[in-house]
Amino acid sequence: MTTDPSAADRAGAPGAFDVVVVGAGVVGAAIARDLAGHRLSVALVEARDDVGDGTSKANTAILHTGFDAKPGTLESRLVRRGYELLSGYAAETGIPVERVGALLVAWTDEELDALPGLRDKAAENGCTRCEIVSADEVYRQVPDLGPGALGGLTVPDESIICTWTTTLALATDARARGARVLLGHRVTGVTEGPDATVLHTTRGDVAGRWIVNAAGLGADVLDRMLGYDRFTVTPRRGELFVYDKLARPLVDRIVLPVPSSRGKGVLVSPTIYGNVMLGPTAEDLDDRTATGTSEDGFAFLLDKGRKLMPKLLEEEVTATYAGLRAAIDRGDYLIEADADRRYLLVGGIRSTGLTAGMAIAEHVHGLLAGAGLALEPRADLPAPPRMPNIGEAFTRPYQDADLIARDPEYGRVVCFCERVTAGEIRDALASPLPPAGLDGLRRRTRAMNGRCQGFFCGAEVAARLAAGAPPCASAGRPAAETKEDAR
Ligand SMILES: Cc1cc2nc3c(=O)[nH]c(=O)nc-3n(C[C@H](O)[C@H](O)[C@H](O)COP(=O)(O)OP(=O)(O)OC[C@H]3O[C@@H](n4cnc5c(N)ncnc54)[C@H](O)[C@@H]3O)c2cc1C
Repeated sequence: MTTDPSAADRAGAPGAFDVVVVGAGVVGAAIARDLAGHRLSVALVEARDDVGDGTSKANTAILHTGFDAKPGTLESRLVRRGYELLSGYAAETGIPVERVGALLVAWTDEELDALPGLRDKAAENGCTRCEIVSADEVYRQVPDLGPGALGGLTVPDESIICTWTTTLALATDARARGARVLLGHRVTGVTEGPDATVLHTTRGDVAGRWIVNAAGLGADVLDRMLGYDRFTVTPRRGELFVYDKLARPLVDRIVLPVPSSRGKGVLVSPTIYGNVMLGPTAEDLDDRTATGTSEDGFAFLLDKGRKLMPKLLEEEVTATYAGLRAAIDRGDYLIEADADRRYLLVGGIRSTGLTAGMAIAEHVHGLLAGAGLALEPRADLPAPPRMPNIGEAFTRPYQDADLIARDPEYGRVVCFCERVTAGEIRDALASPLPPAGLDGLRRRTRAMNGRCQGFFCGAEVAARLAAGAPPCASAGRPAAETKEDAR
């Protein structure tokens, strides 16, 4: 904690936000959205130039039922509730979700013996439709599974979702409700004052009467800046392969291993964009920036894939990526409010935060209210945003004749692998939270996400990004929020 007297002076000044949420991943965005639905001034402060650019952009994108969570934990409760909340919100906003279901496969006698316990645990977690099935039924459901499966457990409600659209929808909603989204503001120090806490960021100070720490992999660092010493984040890397769309007929549901104490294990799953995914690995690292893939990770995945589904290995890999789970040394979420310091920590949201994000926000709401924050709902809430569909199972603009007739830009394909149109790129550039670079544009449209990885369309997509939104498309849109907007 710094003791800069001028900052401490400002900490008592009236220019502070009521609440500053640090971290614009899925969790911070969900919290900011919830709080901004009340008569409060809210800021969402993010180190990177885009929302959802940390762990929330690189996961397996499964909307978990929570069937395998440890009953009685906060995580199990919030995953279950998050599943309900996000399913409803996705329907409202157009976040693509496919309820493909999962099949958990036992490969050893020990795993087979574990199935009844897992079914009972699932029932305790509210998943009462799970059924133990024979090896024959396993192969009927997934004919291309490798040899040696002994039985399985069905999890009918497990779903796949677009993780990119989820964070973007929540952050867009938060912004529409009046929250300031302050990108490129890395918090590097903290000064506490009598009425507010000043966060010193790489783009100037941001003061809040209440601070919510949703900084993911950086949550322990910020917690220490605030004078606590209660946990350490260990980045647990998960590497994944994305197979070409031609592999999609091999896998119509999520195929899971029996989970172990190390996590959920390596799965094969369809993706919401029409590909197939294999992964993730689980490797504890020291480096919180190590999101690159590795030779060892690839060898491990190839070995697993060969046993799980040999035919999949004959297919082409379109892309590989890795994400870092914010693992901590306890088996549950660490969410604690300190009423005296007007501070709330959201830590250890390791491998279920995409699903649980909205329920974490609801829980945080309750804790803040209990700690003394007045939460009076606003009467004039804007409607939730309607997000562009980038899911393969739903109508895309290039398929929509009426839309193209109204606006021919939706008929002009720019990215042929993923069939992304000029209209979609234009809309993304003109959206309330426009992309800061090519990767952000990819997450909003799928442009350059296909088998050529931008070889054909990269130059045109880059030119369109550089040209920015056409003036008419961005008219009326407030300028990008920067330090100058921060009070
Ligand atoms: C391989 C893998 C697979 C997974 N699969 C699933 C899944 O299938 N389903 C599921 O529900 N969950 C899954 N998860 C977990 C899920 O992705 C995470 O729990 C979730 O994304 C965490 O969101 P977050 O907002 O807490 O963190 P993040 O998305 O990392 O956001 C934290 C943000 O805080 C910012 N920040 C950090 N420090 C500072 C600072 N000092 N100042 C300002 N900003 C700061 C970061 O830049 C970052 O943007 C998976 C995770 C991994 C890695």
